Amino acid sequence: MNMHHTESNLIEIKNKIKDKINLLSLDQYNPKIIAVSKTFKKQDILPLLNYGHCDFGENKVQEALLKWSELKHKYKNVKLHMLGKLQTNKAKFAVEVFDFIHSLDNLKLANKLANEIHKKDKKVKMFIQINLGGEKQKSGIEPNDLEMFYKNCLSLKLDIVGTMCIPPDNQDPKSFFKDLLYLNEKVKLSEISMGMTNDYLDALEYRSTYLRIGTGIFGKRTN
Ligand SMILES: *Cc1c(COP(=O)(O)O)cnc(C)c1O
Repeated sequence: MNMHHTESNLIEIKNKIKDKINLLSLDQYNPKIIAVSKTFKKQDILPLLNYGHCDFGENKVQEALLKWSELKHKYKNVKLHMLGKLQTNKAKFAVEVFDFIHSLDNLKLANKLANEIHKKDKKVKMFIQINLGGEKQKSGIEPNDLEMFYKNCLSLKLDIVGTMCIPPDNQDPKSFFKDLLYLNEKVKLSEISMGMTNDYLDALEYRSTYLRIGTGIFGKRTN
């Protein structure tokens, strides 16, 4: 049987995760893998869908609508995750196509999402993105604002499941993963979205529950 390279990559990653979890002696720990398919085409994604993988990630609303509207009809178990910066004026479309939004980071967006979700009676789970590195150019709320922001989201009846971070480039991600785990426990949320191709094994040490892996599964992106 001929295995597609994305499928063998995914299996290898799953094995590495299993080994690391054994090494850490953690039972009942079963993090999910989001296959980040941004910039890749339907035909690159189909082998993983047919293999039965369910969680996929994109970072642009328009691209996700084009690629996934049809695919989601055919593959009913798919959960699509929005990972990129979400503009408020795209909230309506985001709610149509995404099952999870990992990049909730301001109240204006929270309000708009709440409106659209209640209008359409959709279920969308959300992560609050936190800017742990204090980087001006990066999205995310300040760590000190988390409790207040979370409260505001709850009063809008948003289904907040966890927190998310993208650590600064060229720094050891571990201290950021540690910070996110701490913050997540402080507000008693159950899910943590952290860890990418280069650091997903480190993220396991800090109980990430959603690993976002693109390059490691699909290969290098050309744009
Ligand atoms: C692209 C992207 C990823 C995947 O990155 P890789 O290094 O290719 O695994 C993860 N998270 C976010 C937010 C992304 O934009």
